[in-house]
Amino acid sequence: MPYSILIVDDDIAIRNSVSEYLKAINYNVKGVLNAAEALEALTSFDADVVLTDIMMRGMDGLELTSKIKESYDIDVMVMTGYSAEYSYENAVQAGASDFIFKPFRFEELDLRIKRVLREADSKKERTKLLKKLEKIAITDALTGLYNSRHFFAQIKSEVNRHFRYSRALSLLILDIDFFKNYNDTWGHLEGDKVLMGIGEIVNSCMRSMDTAYRYGGEEFTILLPETKLQKACVVGERIKDGISDRVFEPEPGKKISITVSLGATELVRGEDFKTFIERADKALYKSKDTGRNKLTYLTS
Ligand code: GH3
Ligand code: MG
Ligand code: MG
Repeated sequence: MPYSILIVDDDIAIRNSVSEYLKAINYNVKGVLNAAEALEALTSFDADVVLTDIMMRGMDGLELTSKIKESYDIDVMVMTGYSAEYSYENAVQAGASDFIFKPFRFEELDLRIKRVLREADSKKERTKLLKKLEKIAITDALTGLYNSRHFFAQIKSEVNRHFRYSRALSLLILDIDFFKNYNDTWGHLEGDKVLMGIGEIVNSCMRSMDTAYRYGGEEFTILLPETKLQKACVVGERIKDGISDRVFEPEPGKKISITVSLGATELVRGEDFKTFIERADKALYKSKDTGRNKLTYLTS
């Protein structure tokens, strides 16, 4: 894909000669004669670089640069004559990536454009990499759900948010029943497959605003914003049934069902996130103590 360049210059001779040169070296080029036309063109022309004259009737090149930088992530290079009273500092302050004096040799322009494009590409790469790392830092590698570090960050901020706006917030905690037996019988790798399967089921049972986390080795949590306890229990029951309905096959022909126990609770006004989690945990252990494969809720 060739890079696209928008040239803004009210001098038709310059605009045409620069356009012709850049087209000849394989850029996709569009020329316009003032700032207003440039802003209009950018709504449909996907420019990588805007090359603008500074001295133009109406909005000048520096104002155009500021306007572009407000709304787009596009590099702007400004062109000016030696006699003009615009400085390199003015251009940089307005957000320009480069500044070139007219008259210039086309080869110099080409080199400057290439440098600007190279820097833009490496900035994009860095941003992409950073996003990837940020995602890795909050994701559990086995299940693809969020990890426990992210759980604590989220529950703290959700608790604050829900107090501020007096909204409901519910929490589910889930623990696999007799999972040690499963691992001991079928091996740790097969156990990992169960964890992955449970991750999928939890994901498919949640609503769009809910978030699920691998809280511990074989424990999961689900945060349900804007959700009263009763509705959270419905989601929890759906997860429980989805898991017990799934058939795992640790060896060909061996069809094994897994069950989980859950605890559910709703945030009580004024309590901290630790008390909230402790109550969900207590509900979970009640499920364990009273037969497993069930959901228990506690209100306080
Ligand atoms: P309970 O019904 O009381 O929860 O019994 P349990 O056997 O599930 O509980 P226990 O706490 O005794 O054992 C939890 C087991 O979970 C121990 C460990 O083998 C397994 N486990 C924890 N993390 C992982 C993991 O990442 N992969 C696998 N395969 N197993 C794990
Ligand atoms: Mg456990
Ligand atoms: Mg367990």
